[in-house]
Amino acid sequence: MARYSGSVCRLCRREGTKLFLKGDRCFSAKCGVERRGYPPGQHGQGRTRFSDYGVQLREKQKVKRMYGLLERQFAATMKKASSMKGRAGENLLMLLERRLDNVVFRMGFATSRAEARQLVKHGHFLVNGKKATIPSMLLGPPAVVTLREKSHKVARIAGALEALESRSLPQWLEIDKDNFAGKLAAMPVRDDITMPIQEQLIVELYSR
Ligand code: SF4
Repeated sequence: MARYSGSVCRLCRREGTKLFLKGDRCFSAKCGVERRGYPPGQHGQGRTRFSDYGVQLREKQKVKRMYGLLERQFAATMKKASSMKGRAGENLLMLLERRLDNVVFRMGFATSRAEARQLVKHGHFLVNGKKATIPSMLLGPPAVVTLREKSHKVARIAGALEALESRSLPQWLEIDKDNFAGKLAAMPVRDDITMPIQEQLIVELYSR
């Protein structure tokens, strides 16, 4: 299945909320949601009413698009979350947070998850001293993510680290900017996710 290659701002407008898919632009007045806060398409400004199924589907699409997963990957993550102890919805979000591409983004090495995924695939990072190129790799404490020495001068990574000041670092992560390294100090918890997500709707969708 091909990865979505259209305008990512359309995805945010479809979900009616900022999904922060475009790095710095998301924090500027150029943001698509700021400029046109209604769904895309010819009938985007018409009234839209969703059924229960529609509401659940939109919530799933929102989270899937936020973390940049394909349908099959997302369904597999949901299945894994359901088989774990505890609440399936929370487990799902924690599994998504612990992905290497998300950790790289959260640590500030990239301005978006899509950029983080590309950097990981291009082999810029080490996990516990070993090269890691799989964006879906699951990390847990006390994993250490380090930027490879030869990548220290990559301008977009340095620029993203500079911009970290304007974003907040989650409590479960630590970053040592001088040494281009970050550490998982703890497991993420539900309160670490500040985006408005109703994960129970996603669980209900997959329980149908
Ligand atoms: Fe979404 Fe960012 Fe585009 Fe705004 S700029 S619509 S947050 S991807």
